[in-house]
Parts: sequence; structure tokens; C-alpha cells
Amino acid sequence: MTQAHTIHPLLESLDLVNHPRVVTDIRGDETHESDNMVVVRAPATNQPIAAVTLDSAESYEDITIRSVEAFKKWCTVPAPARGDLVRRIGNAYREVLEDLGSLVSLEMGKIKAEGIGEVQETIDIADFAVGQSRMLYGKTMPSERPLHAMKEQWLPLGPVGIITAFNFPNAVWGWNAMLAAVCGDSCVWKPSLLAPLTAIATNTIAQRIAEEAGHPDLFQLVIGTDDVVGETMIHDKRYPLISATGSCRMGRHVGAAVAQRLGKCLLELGGNNAVIIEPDANLDLALKSTVFGSVGTAGQRCTTSRRLIIHESIADDFVAKLVKAYETVRIGDPLDETVLMGPLRTEGSVEQYESAVAQAKAQGGELLTGGERHNPGGDCEGGNFVKPTIIRAPKDNNLPIALEETFAPILYVFTYTNLEDAIDMQNNVDQGLSSAIFTGASASAERFLSPTGAGSDCGIANVNLGTSGAEIGGAFGGEKDTGGGRESGSDSWKSYMRRQTCTINHGSELTLAQGIRFE
Ligand code: NAD
Repeated sequence: MTQAHTIHPLLESLDLVNHPRVVTDIRGDETHESDNMVVVRAPATNQPIAAVTLDSAESYEDITIRSVEAFKKWCTVPAPARGDLVRRIGNAYREVLEDLGSLVSLEMGKIKAEGIGEVQETIDIADFAVGQSRMLYGKTMPSERPLHAMKEQWLPLGPVGIITAFNFPNAVWGWNAMLAAVCGDSCVWKPSLLAPLTAIATNTIAQRIAEEAGHPDLFQLVIGTDDVVGETMIHDKRYPLISATGSCRMGRHVGAAVAQRLGKCLLELGGNNAVIIEPDANLDLALKSTVFGSVGTAGQRCTTSRRLIIHESIADDFVAKLVKAYETVRIGDPLDETVLMGPLRTEGSVEQYESAVAQAKAQGGELLTGGERHNPGGDCEGGNFVKPTIIRAPKDNNLPIALEETFAPILYVFTYTNLEDAIDMQNNVDQGLSSAIFTGASASAERFLSPTGAGSDCGIANVNLGTSGAEIGGAFGGEKDTGGGRESGSDSWKSYMRRQTCTINHGSELTLAQGIRFE
């Protein structure tokens, strides 16, 4: 006889048990995996949490048609009133902050504090978007022609296709959807198949509030495979903007497909972030920041610190302390509040970690700590746990594997003698997301942030704080293979609107620009 599957309490508290596309009655001996169903497994145990039904080509079409219709109505709502709806959504997330954050943790594997932090990020961007709804400013400019006026205005764009990565299953949608909504756009969210439960719980709340306001199709979810749903969406002209977050490999493909149809693309792709540590830095601060930056989220953040570039005069001492700190990190169930590092998302991620460690060793890297699987025991016996790892590059700093983003807690250590070399080393990778320097000298900080562009080539450059943990107020994103997109704060809202330049003749003469006479 098969044993009944125990329903996780979070599925009850977030009302996922009653959701039409969530199947909770799954038993250990059935896979439920099929063309129209995906089984979601907890990374801490690899046991199924629930199954989720997948969209077909037909349901995708229906969702898209409804989103186009929703847009036509929503774009006529005054922007501050759109902001009011977003305010209510942010408040609704406040009510479920702990449970939704815990679901992120259960499904994705980041520790509970980070899961809650992620939902807080969505609340923060909702607040930001509410303010933005009254500041969708255009410009006026003087016309060169008499009795003419010129202005620029920002207009709603259309349905936005939002493709998200597994590692931020709530906030990446939040960054996009809260701003897109105040800009007058409807949203269709295609989440990762590794985190559909968080997507359902998150979207259901936004959808309910939009429905109460008379806009039931403003926020929709399309859950499906990349072949059936993803490919169709990126080639679909009804989405003037595709905002895609994920690997550089995915971005190269999606970017080309959207460019082919001359659509707009907002790409938030992989990083390979470095921390430079100068000898005059506050080394306690640098140590704590480096541990958080490299071990946090088990190395599964786009902004994770993957390379440490440290002055040779302090390297041995600092690295010894770092190894010690790594060895005290408590690894285990991400929902256990005493744990600092949870599992990797899948068994495949563990294999990639093992492969990177093996390649680093073969390339002359010295394994200083970690480098192997970890078994926390208890309920987490079958989970995807690994040990946080530090690998020191050979003396000539030649370690090709460090040029790649391995989505796991591996930190590669390089040394330098002068800052110019350190900055070159930090820039000398394909990705350009986040970067950091720890220094006691303002001249070094200024050199790193050089306004000539000769400093860090990343979208994010920090001084005396690590590479991960961005605030929503700034524009978030990176250069080079990271894709060039900007989300979240500052003027990122402009990506979700179209710009129109308007010239108004309020005289009665035909006056041509550039003084052209046509008589
Ligand atoms: P991934 O590239 O495997 O998948 C990301 C998303 O793209 C998923 O929803 C996936 O289904 C979708 N996708 C893949 N192929 C597609 C296609 N042909 N058409 C349409 N959609 C397609 O990435 P992942 O493993 O989920 O996430 C980890 C990666 O994301 C890392 O590289 C990380 O650095 C990056 N990331 C970047 C940011 C950022 O803001 N820069 C944020 C989070 C994660």
C-alpha cells in the first residue's frame, strides 16, 4: 500500500491546496511527471511538495488574448490610480510576508531569512512603484520654430512577458510587474519550472486584488515548458517587451529571438562578480561581507561573490580566516532559523558544482576547504547539499574555470600587487554584473569608480560592501554578457513605456525645421 503524501502546512496557509492547478494528493510511488504536469521537489529533501499542471499552446493563446484585452482597459486608468492598486498589492504581501517567504525557502532552498527578505523586496518595489505612478515625467523642450511647443511623453507599452529564473522566484517578478503595472501595462509571467508554487501563490494575490478592482486579467501566469510556452512567447509580437532573467545562454537565445521581430528585450543575466581587497581595508568588515557574498543563498545569486582578488601582502592571513569562517557555516534545512546555508536547487546543480571543483583542481587550483557534498542528516538526508568551497588559483592567476559562472558556493582566490592589475582582473570576464572594493583610501575607491570608465566595468560597483544584496532604489543590472538591462529603481520604469516626442503648432504658419523653405 502506498502512503498518503503529507501536505506541507505552507500549502494550506497560502491556500495552494485549493488552487485549481496545484495537485497535492501525490504519493511517493507516482511521478506525476508528464507533458502536462510538473512535480515540484523540495531541494532540502528531493521529496515532492506538490505537482502543478502545465499550460498548453491553447491555454497560452487564451492567456495572451486576455492580456491584450486587459491592457486596452488598464492603460486608460490614470497612472496614480494604477499606483493605488499596486499599493494594495504591496499591503497584501505584507500580510503573508512570513509564509510566502517560507515558501520561497521551501521550494528554492534559500534560508528563511533570505526568503522573507525576497518578499520584502517585492513590497519595497511596490512602495517605490506607487510613488513612481505620480512621476512618469516627460520633458518639455523649446522649439526652434515660432509658435511651436515640444514635449516628450511616456505611454503604456502593452502586455509585458516576464520570464524569471528559479533563484528569485518572487522578487524578480515583483521588480517587473509592480513597475509595469503603474506604467499601464498588463503582465504575463512565465516562471521557472523549478519554482512554480511561489509563482502561483504570488500571482494569485495580485490577481485577486486586480480582479476586485475590475481588472481580472491584469496579472496572469503561464506555466509551461520552454518549447511550448517560452519559445511561443518570445516570438509573439503581442508582447512588445520581453523581460527575461536567467543564464547568459538563455539571454543570448531570447535576445536574438526578440530582436528578430524588432521587439524590446530587458535582459538580466548571469554574473561573475569579484571583490577586491586592498591592504588598508577594514579587514573584519571585508571578511564578514565576503562570507555573506559568497556563501549566502548557497552561491545561487546572480550577484554572488565568485572571485576574491586580494593584495598579496594580506592574502595568506585573510584567506586563513575565511577558511575558518567557512567551516563554521551551519548547513541544513533552509527553514531552520539557525541554518546559514541551504541546499542547491537540483541534483544537476550539485553535479555542476562537483565538475567545477574537479576542473579547478585539474587547472592547478588548490582546494582550501569544501569541494564535496554534505549530508546534514535528519530530515535532509536526500537533499542537494554541498560544502561552501574556497579554491586558490595558481601563482600566475591562470584558472580558466573561474571565467565561468558556476551557480554554487565556490570562491576562487587570486592575488595582486597593484590596484591597476586587480581592476583589470576583475574586468577580465565576459559578465559585468556586480563588483566591490574594500579599501581605506578614497583615492583607490575613486580609481575603482573612475568617471572615465577605466574602473569597474560592471553595472553595480560597491565600496566597502560586498557584491550581493542590492537595494531596490537603484537601477539593477549589468553590462556585457549580463545583458545590459536595468530593473527596479532609478529610471528603470522607462523600459516599460514607450516614448513619444510631440510638436504642437499653435500658430497658423507652416514653419519647417532647419529653416527649410518649401514654397
Ligand atoms: P535559466 O536560464 O535556466 O532559466 C531562466 C528562465 O528562462 C526560466 O524561466 C526558463 O524556463 C526560461 N527559458 C529558458 N529557455 C527559454 C526559451 N528558449 N524561451 C523562453 N524562456 C526560456 O536560468 P536559471 O537556472 O533559472 O537561473 C539562474 C541564472 O539566472 C544564473 O545565470 C543567474 O546569474 C541568473 N540570474 C540573473 C539575475 C539578474 O538580475 N541579472 C537575477 C537572477 C538570476
